[in-house]
Amino acid sequence: SAKAAGKDMLSFYDPQMQAVVSMRIELEEDIRRGLAQEEFVLYLQPQADASGNVEGAEALVRWQHPARGLLAPGVFIDIAERSGLIEPLDLAILRQGCELLARWAQQPHTAALTLAINISARFLYRDDFVCQVRDILQHTGASALQLKLEITESLLLTDVDKAVSRMQLLRDMGVRFAIDDFGTGYSSMAYLQRLPLDQLKIDQSFVRGLPDDKGNVAIVRAILSMAEGLELEVIAEGVEHPAQQDILRLHGCRHFQGYLFGKPMSVDAFIELL
Ligand code: C2E
Ligand code: MG
Ligand code: MG
Ligand code: MG
Repeated sequence: SAKAAGKDMLSFYDPQMQAVVSMRIELEEDIRRGLAQEEFVLYLQPQADASGNVEGAEALVRWQHPARGLLAPGVFIDIAERSGLIEPLDLAILRQGCELLARWAQQPHTAALTLAINISARFLYRDDFVCQVRDILQHTGASALQLKLEITESLLLTDVDKAVSRMQLLRDMGVRFAIDDFGTGYSSMAYLQRLPLDQLKIDQSFVRGLPDDKGNVAIVRAILSMAEGLELEVIAEGVEHPAQQDILRLHGCRHFQGYLFGKPMSVDAFIELL
């Protein structure tokens, strides 16, 4: 059996390696349990326009672990991704996000907010991806126009034709798409033009050195001017200091996200901030 084969394989490794493997298996089981117990919740980080007004939020998953407290994705996202548990996890966050959008639509001060949700390329490439998103929109009553889906660049290009057609189907319904961590992956200019995209998110590694690092300034300027030509919106991630926002704005960036405007917070805290 596969299990017996796995054991044989493990016997080639040293005990330390085995400890790592069994920790991974334990964590995977714990994620499975946490999903069943609905311990994964959506936190929100504000996204601001050029004048600093909150125009929306990004949903970032947090694990309310009964023993370990509130856990950030760094602790579990990698294992969830490898084990396939990222798919039910993304679904759970998408559902929570759309429920939230439907509630926001009822109040004048939240009705115009957009919500960006991270999805794994694994989820995008699932056969029922488009159906799942459409069903969730229908069941929750959320408007597709307020929903943005963020996909990480490096994983998007597994099967470009498939990605394009799925994105297009949802885009026809009004859903928007952003490329996350832009500049760190492998997108060629040709792919950028083919993908039905709305927004590029400048990765925070390029924002960090602003305004002094000449290389970072050059990269950020290049992304902004290319995006203008392709008629794509740009949002800068990881903006922590006013000087970073100033130079981004100087070069044409109109949307910002980072600790300068707020850290990821509970839904209640986000509403308070508004
Ligand atoms: P991301 O989508 O690129 O999200 C941005 C990350 O940068 C978040 O980390 C956020 O807390 C952090 N961040 C935001 N502003 C600042 C800043 O000014 N300074 C610094 N140093 N960091 C900042 P977080 O919440 O730990 O999430 C890490 C990654 O986990 C996300 O990166 C995303 O790729 C993934 N992720 C989060 N939620 C989900 C989800 O529901 N589904 C999937 N598939 N992935 C998710
Ligand atoms: Mg993101
Ligand atoms: Mg990012
Ligand atoms: Mg990231």
